Amino acid sequence: MTPLRAVKGMNDVLPDEIGRWQRVEQVYARTLSLHGFREVRTPYVEPTSLFVRAIGEVTDVVEKEMYSFSHHDDALSLRPEGTAGAARAYVEHSVQTREPVTRWWYAGPMFRAERPQKGRYRQFYQLGAEIFGDGGPGCDAEMIDMLVSLLGELRVPGVEVLVNSLGGAGTRERHRDALVGYLTPRVAALSPTAQQRLKTNPLRILDSKDPRDQEVVGGAPSIHDFLDAGDRAHFAKLREYLDALRTPYTVDTKLVRGLDYYTRTLFEIKGAHEKLGAGSTLVGGGRYDAMVAGLGGPDVPAIGFAAGLERLLIASDLEAPAKGVDAMVAPIGEATVGAALELARDLRRHGIRCEVDTRGSSLKAQLRRANALGARIVLILGESELAEGVVQVKDLEARVEERLARGDAVRVVLDRLVAASRNVDARVPS
Ligand code: AMP
Repeated sequence: MTPLRAVKGMNDVLPDEIGRWQRVEQVYARTLSLHGFREVRTPYVEPTSLFVRAIGEVTDVVEKEMYSFSHHDDALSLRPEGTAGAARAYVEHSVQTREPVTRWWYAGPMFRAERPQKGRYRQFYQLGAEIFGDGGPGCDAEMIDMLVSLLGELRVPGVEVLVNSLGGAGTRERHRDALVGYLTPRVAALSPTAQQRLKTNPLRILDSKDPRDQEVVGGAPSIHDFLDAGDRAHFAKLREYLDALRTPYTVDTKLVRGLDYYTRTLFEIKGAHEKLGAGSTLVGGGRYDAMVAGLGGPDVPAIGFAAGLERLLIASDLEAPAKGVDAMVAPIGEATVGAALELARDLRRHGIRCEVDTRGSSLKAQLRRANALGARIVLILGESELAEGVVQVKDLEARVEERLARGDAVRVVLDRLVAASRNVDARVPS
């Protein structure tokens, strides 16, 4: 029988890798909480119409990449990103009636039927956040600065921030008309995809990696020629605040992103080029001031970002935390298994991570297993120890062995582990 395999582009994360995932998630949760964000969890499945309305009908995500299905009479989709669901939840629960500004973060899987490659999967994890109710450039700068600090803490080398302003809805419309006016006489020089996009979503042509399009786009009207006074002031303030924070950034007037909802501030953060390739974005984000009202909610401005967790893991120089357990309880002979289980329970009650081998393995095999698990202490319980009410405690690193009264064993093990962790801490430069 052919063994079953996971769906292409959807990966298992095995325990050997999970330590780094959890470290990144912990750093993320702490950073976001330091900035006043609280976690929100929204469903993985939403009505398809939510994504069509929030992300835009003529985007790659909605046109080609969603896992959509119908169930009874409902048209549903696996969420391709987190912002639409968060905005839907914000509107559905009338959150604006309870607080003027809402700061939410989320972490979880997203689903897009893209061509899988390094750093691009069909089920991937995003760490994201949204601020609802603050339209000013101050929180935009704070968000970008927070992300730069986060990437620093995750030890991502070569972090580079790109910012742009797309202006409000009116600005985008005027720019779109000018862009179509410029591109239409040059249509023959564009790639077939861009020719198609000229009719559906001309802004995306600015983003094209095709050299034919880049050549044409080089002389295209810039969105910055169409920003109104309010947009300009907003962008100037954002830059002023980033300068004040000494957060380095580059203005990229050609920056547009794949999702239709952005207004005014737009940003991307790249890093670890050698590991990820220059084109690979770690974090994408921006304002979407019209989305909440577009979903039937109040006129509340918003900004958010999402970072790909797998890409952060490729980019990050953080090491995996120590694995396994602190101690191993080794019963020798069937008669000692019950007492060994009890001893292990005692150790765990004191916060000592331990395993106990109840399979009747030899002492040699159990010591090998202790090594493989990274256990520092082995507590050996043979029939003679059981009869005498003692336990043999072996410190594999200090290479000492002592015979202790059963009642003293937990305290001694705890002391040894605490002393060992102090030595480790003392070696870490502050
Ligand atoms: P987006 O939601 O498209 O703005 O993407 C935000 C971030 O999510 C990107 O910068 C990537 O880090 C990550 N990301 C997007 N799509 C994928 C994917 N298919 N696989 C892995 N990561 C992704």
